Amino acid sequence: MHNETWRQDKLIDLLPVNVINIIQKVEFDERRKDCPYWLPEGTGAFTCKSAWDLLGRKRGGGVLSLVQRFGTKECLSSLFFMLRLLQHKIHTDEAVRRFGIVTVSRCSCCYNHEEETIDHLFSNSQVARSVWSFFCSSCGISFVPLQIRQNLMKWWMTKGNNSVHTVMLQCLPSLICWEIWKSRCAANFENIRLSARHIIYQVSNTITLIFNCQFPDLQLPHSWIDKCIVLEKKSPVIHSQIVCWKKPVSGYIKLNVDGCSKGNPGSAGGGRIIKDHHGDLVTE
Ligand SMILES: [Zn+2]
Repeated sequence: MHNETWRQDKLIDLLPVNVINIIQKVEFDERRKDCPYWLPEGTGAFTCKSAWDLLGRKRGGGVLSLVQRFGTKECLSSLFFMLRLLQHKIHTDEAVRRFGIVTVSRCSCCYNHEEETIDHLFSNSQVARSVWSFFCSSCGISFVPLQIRQNLMKWWMTKGNNSVHTVMLQCLPSLICWEIWKSRCAANFENIRLSARHIIYQVSNTITLIFNCQFPDLQLPHSWIDKCIVLEKKSPVIHSQIVCWKKPVSGYIKLNVDGCSKGNPGSAGGGRIIKDHHGDLVTE
């Protein structure tokens, strides 16, 4: 924050565009005293659950609306996870080694057990490629193996056919990474084989949950391809309002003016018209 406004450059470094748009609508006053939005539980630990309970039960305003906007627990978890991923705070084997702990890195996602790095796990492994390639082809995005940051930026910069489709395109990368990570942990700690099909299924289900929460009128089909078709073709709701000229009350005249400018400074023009209470022209 700077001069009572959000620092756009910092937000862009950390967050997707749709989240930045929401955050920038949150008003704050630098003169107001700080107040805690996230309190520890009785044990002294900070958990997502304590924040959720606190915000849901007691608070109003900006942060609550941000949480409500993302609706489901899974979506909120994926956002927190994405923040950690972009800051390289995910505990991959590569990160553990940076702490000086000697370990043999054997990635659980591929048969030849390559070294587990963030780029490998989330973008270049066999499983990650299968998942990204599936979602890219269904969303009309060309699939090229990239580093994870480049991959995320490509998705976040893609403009949808309408506002709902854009929300889907911007939520999807976070959910994909979150599901890859959950599957990786299940493979490492519970010996459950990592499967691209399972990740795709989970992401598709979470998208349905999010859109059911955010857009209750939208009926999404079960199949992912059908979901994409519905979201791509969703027409914006058009609100119309009748605009008409009203006569002034008896004994009064009404002056209407309009003008425009082509550039500033630039050529400009304007006009006015005066009518009486019968609607008859008094002067142009
Ligand atoms: Zn791997």
